[in-house]
Amino acid sequence: MNALVVTIDSLRFDVFDRLIASDELPNFKKFLRKSLVFSNAYSNGPYTMASFPSILTGTHPFSSGPYDSLERRVMISEIFRSSGYTTIGIPNNPLISSERGYDRGFDVFINPWDLMSPAKNKLRNILKKIPPLFSIVKKINKLFFSKGLPYTPSEVINELLLRSLPDEKFFAWIHYMDVHHPYYPPKDYLPKNISSGEAKKINSLVEKGFKTPEILRDKLKKLKVLYEAEVKHADEGFGKLLDALSERGSLKDTCIILTSDHGEEFLEHGAFGHTGIGNRTHFYNELLRVPLAIFWKRIEPENRKNVVDLVCIPPTLSEIFGLNFSFFEGENLLRLKKDKPVLSEASRINGAFKSVDPRERTFSFIDNGLKIVTSPRTELFDISKDPGEKSPILDPDAVKEMIRRAEKYRESFKNRRKEFISDLVSEALKKIEGY
Ligand SMILES: [Zn+2]
Repeated sequence: MNALVVTIDSLRFDVFDRLIASDELPNFKKFLRKSLVFSNAYSNGPYTMASFPSILTGTHPFSSGPYDSLERRVMISEIFRSSGYTTIGIPNNPLISSERGYDRGFDVFINPWDLMSPAKNKLRNILKKIPPLFSIVKKINKLFFSKGLPYTPSEVINELLLRSLPDEKFFAWIHYMDVHHPYYPPKDYLPKNISSGEAKKINSLVEKGFKTPEILRDKLKKLKVLYEAEVKHADEGFGKLLDALSERGSLKDTCIILTSDHGEEFLEHGAFGHTGIGNRTHFYNELLRVPLAIFWKRIEPENRKNVVDLVCIPPTLSEIFGLNFSFFEGENLLRLKKDKPVLSEASRINGAFKSVDPRERTFSFIDNGLKIVTSPRTELFDISKDPGEKSPILDPDAVKEMIRRAEKYRESFKNRRKEFISDLVSEALKKIEGY
């Protein structure tokens, strides 16, 4: 019995859903047909760093300190490893690297990105202990940098994973970066009306577009097409992975969770990318709504429309695999049939490479069809009627009430954590007394 979590950076739900409906993502579609699908799933953070603690520790971004520190959180990899699973992590993004503590609990942790960072010597030393992997990563880097690709493509991530997998009893997490800006789809995926030269030109504006999104306005159509081309590219990578797992006989014994850390903005609310860089943090649905599906032979395929969030992934895995850990801030997705409240948090400004100041905390909260965002300004929306979040409800009392509910929800985790810790202490004391 194995677990595999596949996260795809920046994959927003509505684009994914539309491309599935128009049969342009055959591999994802085939996978969804066999899975428990949540079509109203939300990320707990609007960008990578804020989002991942929920996916891998089952806690909210500002629980146990700000999200850039994982020190006081338990990683799902640690729980799997302590239960005798071989654990493998291949994240492919500097923000979720070993330097940021994401390697905890992993027997094998490869971040191809690290070869470009100060951590490269450290990584090189680790990989040297596993000679076949070292030579693969070396070849990969030569290959993709020489081709001008900004990220290691999914095909290579697959290869690294397949070469690291044991025959059985593994927990693996891989992260694809194909969909992340800048969008350089491989030639076969390049839209007919955009040459590689033009794609390069458009992408060269992206960096400036974070600060002055308006310069992207007349390029938006093409940017979106390039983005979609990358989603199709990721579909191929994912399909190849499933085929390879099937060939080696692992697929039938592997529970697979597919999701994304956040979406992508195309100026719907005035910003491009996943905000923060030069802009105030956003929590609109183009950033928070993400695909989520669970494939496991003992779970009936179904499409559920209830509101859920990614903080539920670790408790769900924990229960499916009967792991011995009880403290999570999410719930088991298999049992969730109704909407649950969703708290998403982040720093007011996304200082991706700075430490996060808890005083800069800002949030959004979804409950009973309503959603409040507190950045870039406080706005309340009825997302059941206004999913595009275009017409805020102008009722100060309703706004206050929603903020109160959000804070109360957040407090409930603090109390549960206190109880959990005091339980642990009394358990430990009992053991000592028993001696
Ligand atoms: Zn991300």
